[in-house]
Amino acid sequence: MHAAVLHGPRDLRVEATARPEPGPGDVLVRVAMAGLCGTDYGIWAGERPVGYPLILGHEFVGRVEAVGADVRRVRPGERVVIEPNYSCGSCALCREGNRNLCLSRTAIGIDVDGCLAELARVPERCCWPAPASVADEDLLMTEPLAVVVRAVARAGVHAGESVAVVGAGTLGLLALQVLLGKGARVMVVSRTARRFALARQLGATATQLAGDGPLDAAARAFSGREGVGAVVETAGTQEAVSHALALVRPGGRIVLTGLPHEPTPVAFFSVVRREVTLIGSMIYQDEFPEAMQLVANGTVRTRPLVTHRFELAAIGEAFAAHQRPDAIKVAVRTSFAP
Ligand SMILES: [Zn+2]
Ligand SMILES: [Zn+2]
Repeated sequence: MHAAVLHGPRDLRVEATARPEPGPGDVLVRVAMAGLCGTDYGIWAGERPVGYPLILGHEFVGRVEAVGADVRRVRPGERVVIEPNYSCGSCALCREGNRNLCLSRTAIGIDVDGCLAELARVPERCCWPAPASVADEDLLMTEPLAVVVRAVARAGVHAGESVAVVGAGTLGLLALQVLLGKGARVMVVSRTARRFALARQLGATATQLAGDGPLDAAARAFSGREGVGAVVETAGTQEAVSHALALVRPGGRIVLTGLPHEPTPVAFFSVVRREVTLIGSMIYQDEFPEAMQLVANGTVRTRPLVTHRFELAAIGEAFAAHQRPDAIKVAVRTSFAP
């Protein structure tokens, strides 16, 4: 088969590789379409160390090609969406139901070979049968959508509440739609106005440029009170937490989903004095079915976020496109046509 194999930082080659064979409990998936995200880019650029060589990619939809012994949940020919993280299942955290926090969690496309390939081997428990009525391209963002489904649930948002989303990338534009589905009024805050037209088209009640005047005043004007009740942070930048603190009202909640790896300056005095609740949210654990349901019932529209499409053979161009200012989600078709 053909795969995009990373041999070192910025050394990604599409080449012929051995066909993976499914062991007991494994499923071999013929990848239909994959999405690129900032994590893939960070690995490609060498910012995140991995073991080389590695087949990149973790966001994908495909069809079951073959199954190993003991596989019961899926059958060959079935269309599946892949949950690209699996935990050890036996540690205290896993047994308590916190498998997204497992210290021995395995991430497909990071710790083991991923989906920028014609075929990918994954454990059976990573496979979710795809709703028949929904096209591959619409399901392509199920993984990031599951991330924001969890984040929004952790924010405990109620209908009619004023909420801010910080960041207008894939996660921000998905969070916007999940929040609207909960009946919230949503203000999208970003450092650039580039995505504001799309945010409005997807239903944003308001948009606000970060850096264009004080955010606290904007949040007061938007909410009609001391600030928004909840903030969902998706930007992953150093300033994003400060922005969230400026937006939230006393007694409000901030859910952090972006992953700034650098230390973040936070004015903790304002957290204490205003009794703000800071909540971390780490990927997902049971959110894939709800994410697929939100796409199937039209609450979340993912297709407007697909800005670029490439074949696997042009993976270098796909990574270049990911960094373009107009890119939101870059899709890669993994059938191989050299
Ligand atoms: Zn991703
Ligand atoms: Zn575990």
